[in-house]
Amino acid sequence: MKSLYTLVVFACFSLSLLAQSNMLSTNPVAEQVMLGNYNPADYMPTQVIDQPADIVSHILQGVSPDSLHAWLEVLNDFHTRNTGSDTSSATTGIGAARRWVYSKFQQFSSENEGRLLPSYLQFDRNICGMGQHRNVFAVLPGTDGNLDDMILIEAHLDSRCESVCDVDCQAHGMEDNGSGSALVIELARVMSRLALKRTVVFMCTIGEEQGLYGADAFAKYAKNKGIKIRAVLNNDIVGGIICGETSSPPSCPGLNHVDSTQVRLFSAGSINSPHKQLARFIKLEYLEELEDLVSVPMLLTIMSAEDRTGRGGDHIPFRQQGYPAMRFTSANEHGNANTSDPDYHDRQHTTTDILGVDTDGDQVIDSFFVDFNYLSRNAVINGVAAAMAAIGPKTPDFETTKDDQLLHVNIDDPENYGQYRVFFRSLSNEFDSIWTVNSAVASVPKPAGGGWVSVAAVDDNGIESLFSGEKIPTTVNATGEVIEEIPAKPIELFQNRPNPFDEATNIDFMVHDVPVYREAFIAISDLNGNTIKRLPVQLQPGINTVLYTHGYNVTGVYAYSIVVDGKVMDTKRMVFAN
Ligand SMILES: [Zn+2]
Repeated sequence: MKSLYTLVVFACFSLSLLAQSNMLSTNPVAEQVMLGNYNPADYMPTQVIDQPADIVSHILQGVSPDSLHAWLEVLNDFHTRNTGSDTSSATTGIGAARRWVYSKFQQFSSENEGRLLPSYLQFDRNICGMGQHRNVFAVLPGTDGNLDDMILIEAHLDSRCESVCDVDCQAHGMEDNGSGSALVIELARVMSRLALKRTVVFMCTIGEEQGLYGADAFAKYAKNKGIKIRAVLNNDIVGGIICGETSSPPSCPGLNHVDSTQVRLFSAGSINSPHKQLARFIKLEYLEELEDLVSVPMLLTIMSAEDRTGRGGDHIPFRQQGYPAMRFTSANEHGNANTSDPDYHDRQHTTTDILGVDTDGDQVIDSFFVDFNYLSRNAVINGVAAAMAAIGPKTPDFETTKDDQLLHVNIDDPENYGQYRVFFRSLSNEFDSIWTVNSAVASVPKPAGGGWVSVAAVDDNGIESLFSGEKIPTTVNATGEVIEEIPAKPIELFQNRPNPFDEATNIDFMVHDVPVYREAFIAISDLNGNTIKRLPVQLQPGINTVLYTHGYNVTGVYAYSIVVDGKVMDTKRMVFAN
């Protein structure tokens, strides 16, 4: 018995060393709101802004490049926001930085009838020699008590220089990630005036640079408490527009190339991924609600991978806890952050990730590395997508079939919204077709080729829900009887998506019958038959997905095969076009 007891104690102790513990919200009211235990009437503003067009115009008019610039000037002045840096100083270090963010949330709240509830999420973990840490967040309670799934807009507040636990070096961290932090603060300022049906939370995390610890702590805290999170919008490196000498693949075009009109949306998965569907929702909201109103149109690119090659971010711990999550990142980055390379000259993760330079010697920064207009456009995209997710209808489920002529959907919608969108997607990360239908049982022309169907409900205001999962339509005959399609192969490969691809592509395969096997892998080979990569896989019944990162600088046609115990089960071709 004694040895078992020792073992149990030891196991618990080891776990506490490995994970964050004692996660708690310092504001119990904020926690109750996130759980849905509150009276929405207590937080109803005197002047109600709740119509989609008014919400969009409020965010578009309210978000200001000058205001973002001002937040960045303050963040710049803390010298470092390293997670292990000083917490007692009033002017430098992470403690001063997060108390300032908290004070801004308090200020926005008092300017808006006390509607924004600031809090810390405190947790224990040894990071850079410090044992206790705090994310700072603010809760804007939803106005519809029947909708208890919240939207989270977040960014990591912490910074670093060359050495990840150097707590004294200058780490202004302006691109990474003063830009995202300023965006979160600015949206809290602007959006705290809105009356949104669902609760929206604005958060600046800590410990990202050492291992995504602050986001992981919040995701686990939410999971443990039973807090429902509908969508996580992570902003990490969202203000820079200049390409460095290096950049993590998929890279930007070359040194000093400028791109101020594109932002990348990273998320996990390919087929039937709630994270990719969230990224597609954000893009659709931009196209429907904003594109016609803005002076500088933006390109939102839905990326194949969850993050850049070899990199990660705060959206990942949320995905791991089962919450739909994605990341915004600038098209152009200054560095691959490999600071151990002696030839590394770029700004990310160095003391030179600064706000800008003084070009005329008057001691005033006049040339900036963060583009405030670009950052402002990204803030508006975030805010509008989050607001539409916060006011939109519930996501319906559905069944789908197809015959020779038509694609049919049968939408299960207890709310009876009455209008729906039907989405069809084949080879890319984007939809090929979107239809609007006026009945829960509807048919649209059958697209050519195979692909994936999903749906959304549309409310009286014309706002769609988040998108459902994706399904393959079952084949039926003219009278609606299911035609059994006998699978040609026990394991079959799908066409990779996207194809052609740039740096990363998803390879999906369907396992109809799981065989007894020792080893399975996807083999990538050139057309001379030389294998250039083997990706080990586990065979699960249904659809399996593997992300293939090319990292092999030769464009052209490649073959990919699924091989089980030495036997090639299926082969297809794909095109790498950098
Ligand atoms: Zn970052």
